[in-house]
Amino acid sequence: MADVVVVGSGFFGLTVAEQLASRYGVKVMLIDRRPHIGGNAYSEPEPETGIEVHTYGTHLFHTSNERVWEYVNRFTAFTNYVHRVYTTHQGEVFPMPINLGTINQFFRSAYGPEAARALIKEQAAELGGKEPANLDEQGVNLIGRPLYEAFIKGYTQKQWQTDPKDLPASVISRLPVRYTYDNRYFNDTYEGLPVDGYAAWLTRMADHKNIEVRLDTDFFDASQPFSKAAVVGQVPVIYTGAVDRYFDYSEGDLSWRTIDFEQEVLPVGDFQGTSVMNYADPDIPYTRILEFRHLHPERDYPKDKTVVVKEYSRFATRDDEPYYPVNTAADRERLATYRDLMTGEKDVFFGGRLGTYQYLDMHMAIGSALSMVDNKLAPMFGAEGSR
Ligand code: FAD
Repeated sequence: MADVVVVGSGFFGLTVAEQLASRYGVKVMLIDRRPHIGGNAYSEPEPETGIEVHTYGTHLFHTSNERVWEYVNRFTAFTNYVHRVYTTHQGEVFPMPINLGTINQFFRSAYGPEAARALIKEQAAELGGKEPANLDEQGVNLIGRPLYEAFIKGYTQKQWQTDPKDLPASVISRLPVRYTYDNRYFNDTYEGLPVDGYAAWLTRMADHKNIEVRLDTDFFDASQPFSKAAVVGQVPVIYTGAVDRYFDYSEGDLSWRTIDFEQEVLPVGDFQGTSVMNYADPDIPYTRILEFRHLHPERDYPKDKTVVVKEYSRFATRDDEPYYPVNTAADRERLATYRDLMTGEKDVFFGGRLGTYQYLDMHMAIGSALSMVDNKLAPMFGAEGSR
């Protein structure tokens, strides 16, 4: 029997496994129900073109956390890729997030920062100080009706399959507008993509003599030797699967959004000239198109073929992959009861995106796993290098 069982080999589970194995000599059994490690960050080459496709949607690495940056650089080098996003609205392409370039293109104007700021302030005053009653009013209140209706309303409606008038104002607390021409998507100190791909990075993290990986292994399949029934109470468990599933949905289901990915190989060298193109209008059923070759312009990819993926957003059922927490008031109440139940599970540590019901970027998942090791797990396994 291993010293610990880690359920889920996403960045959270992998980081915990790697740290326990390398710093404390702990023997780790790392299980995942999928046929590959790495959770949602996994990628693989599309067989016809060799173009690296991120299986669960484009994953851009970015962080301002020095400890996380130092840690991830132990396993991979990063390219100097800088992410930029564009959006198509009524047959015209605009830069995102909304910036001075977007504003001047949209209003056919040449405002400087102060004039643009004054314009948006005036347009955002439409509600006259009234408290926004729903997401639609909140959008108008934050950036004014013209920009909200062009760039946010239709996109939000597609993401949530719900009219923004029927969504709570709390879904968006801010809509950043930049009064410069800076259209870098992320503001973090460090940004880039793993030079030889995500799969290579993830595989290196698991490559330690103290880590055994078992794929296609569901923690809730009582017939397998590292199931919940077999290990809880026997060895410490780090659980990064869905928290409601762990408790057999006893307090009800937590709601998630999922994405359907529709992948095609097209007989052109370049389809859209950029990695991510959003589609803001409600009459286009997908929310965005990804074109993976643009994530690695330094690679020698075929010049006559490209891989594109259309993303369709919808509410998840229990059988779907849960991607983004919906986080309604009812979800928050349920989560609070699940948290009470968690405290009763001795030597089971809940972590990661699914285990804590919160959206985490990769650097946040890695950072919180490092903290869990320091604060909760290290005290159980003694001094570093003592085993
Ligand atoms: P996951 O990666 O989800 O890993 C959980 C693992 O647990 C999975 O492999 C799953 O199979 C396994 N598991 C679940 N239940 C069981 C069970 N019963 N038995 C065994 N195994 C189980 N982050 C960024 O920094 N930049 C991005 O651009 C970015 N884009 C994203 C796009 C999408 C569509 C999504 C969904 C996420 C994105 N992220 C991005 C977030 C990133 O994927 C997460 O930070 C990361 O996946 C979190 O890691 P995790 O280990 O918590 O969860």
